[in-house]
Amino acid sequence: MAYENYIDGEWVAAESGETATVRNPADLDDVVGEFPASGEADVDAAVAAASAAQSEWAATPAPERGALLRELADELEAREDELAETLTREEGKVLGEAAGEVGHAIDSLRYYSEAIRDFGGDVKNASARDKRLFTRREPVGVVGLIAAWNYPIAIPVWKLGPALAAGNAAVFKPASATPNVMRKVFECIDAVGFPDGVANYVVGSGSEVGSALTSHPGVNAVSFTGSTATGRRVYESACEDQKRVQTEMGGKNPTIVSDSADLEDALDIVQGGAFGVTGQACTATSRAIVYEDVYDEFLEGIVARTESIEVGPGLKGGEMGPQANESELEGTLDYVDVAKEDGATLETGGGRPEAETDGYFVEPTVFSDVDPEMRIAQEEVFGPLLAVIPVSGFEEAVEVANGVDYGLAASIVTQDHSEANRFVDESESGLVKINEGTTGTEVNVPFGGIKDSSSNTFREQGDAGLRFYTRLKTVYDSY
Ligand code: NDP
Repeated sequence: MAYENYIDGEWVAAESGETATVRNPADLDDVVGEFPASGEADVDAAVAAASAAQSEWAATPAPERGALLRELADELEAREDELAETLTREEGKVLGEAAGEVGHAIDSLRYYSEAIRDFGGDVKNASARDKRLFTRREPVGVVGLIAAWNYPIAIPVWKLGPALAAGNAAVFKPASATPNVMRKVFECIDAVGFPDGVANYVVGSGSEVGSALTSHPGVNAVSFTGSTATGRRVYESACEDQKRVQTEMGGKNPTIVSDSADLEDALDIVQGGAFGVTGQACTATSRAIVYEDVYDEFLEGIVARTESIEVGPGLKGGEMGPQANESELEGTLDYVDVAKEDGATLETGGGRPEAETDGYFVEPTVFSDVDPEMRIAQEEVFGPLLAVIPVSGFEEAVEVANGVDYGLAASIVTQDHSEANRFVDESESGLVKINEGTTGTEVNVPFGGIKDSSSNTFREQGDAGLRFYTRLKTVYDSY
């Protein structure tokens, strides 16, 4: 029950000897474990180990690095069910969702194990004879990786995979609420035989471990996923000594339902986007923007579907798990009050389910007649709360969709091809989807937001992920 950090190829306790307790959000009596409450000294040790290991790792041929990532993927696959259960037990999402997330992590490692072979520089034509002009991509060095609790294996792995494939050494800090599933990934890293110091895992709070990592002079790049408020602090801290930095942050994602939409498709898409993973996705659908002509029919359908969702522990067959911690639960309940005060109509939900009192459960909630300027239409709730907003047609729908500070994911459900393409042109978001939900990503294409959803520097996933973890060197060779 008492777990340790993984530094320089060894499992070690935090230097302070202190620990913090992690509990199952679906059953607060169930203790997941005691995890190190690490601090600056542990970060120093991990960065020193990474610095010592990095140049030899960078000199290892890329296909050999890729082969180790492939073996790691195989190792995770052999423990797939165990990892999914571990994830559900610490984060709360239901087993099917957890299994999907573990699968994404495995797929991502396999993608980067191959993609690194084809990733290099460019040869250009030189201005003279007997001269070569080309670019090389080299690792940035030691990278600090900081993740949120809501995708505690997929996102850490989509950072770690390209970082290691490209020849960097990494220090990873999980979210304090969800350290266990990545602890098991580091067990697999150990089993596969990555060189000591190449991949390190340090558990501790954002204020201690997170800030020590972002300000550490031995760290060359920081990749952060989390809230916009924290991301801004991380960005400023990392920029102070000119580290490379990427921050992927919050969202307020819309799905537009056109009057040409197949209504059953629209209901499937909005239900999955709003209430999947308990609404705790950066890409969750928190606004359904619906044309007036189909508004009543859509509303009736989405309320009926929302009321049919079975809320309960993910390990015991629930369809929607709990919120991941008390402050998230309170945050959602606060937004219910705010929405009522602002004049939105509560259609269903809005409280805690009577049957499930042992964890941080909340009812899936729908508000209708939401004005685009209301707080539930503007601010990230990060829970299973959907705001349904009526609009007159396409122009107003796009204006409402774009009328927020965030710009992560947006979708439209329509059978009208030109409407779909105009939405692609006009949407202010990093991901645009047609006849799909706002959630869900594929490993081989870039992922990231614009506006307040991102530092707008580099994308994650796909070969954009490898670009973040490499820098260019330009070579002039006159022979
Ligand atoms: P937080 O911003 O609270 O935390 C994210 C991570 O940062 C955690 O590991 C946290 O540690 C750490 N941290 C906290 N303070 C600091 C600091 N001063 N310096 C460095 N690190 C720090 O976000 P949540 O964990 O609550 O995650 C939810 C948010 O993440 C939502 O806004 C969601 O939209 C966003 N998100 C964005 C994604 C994207 O790709 N755009 C994907 C997934 C989530 P600790 O856990 O110890 O507090």
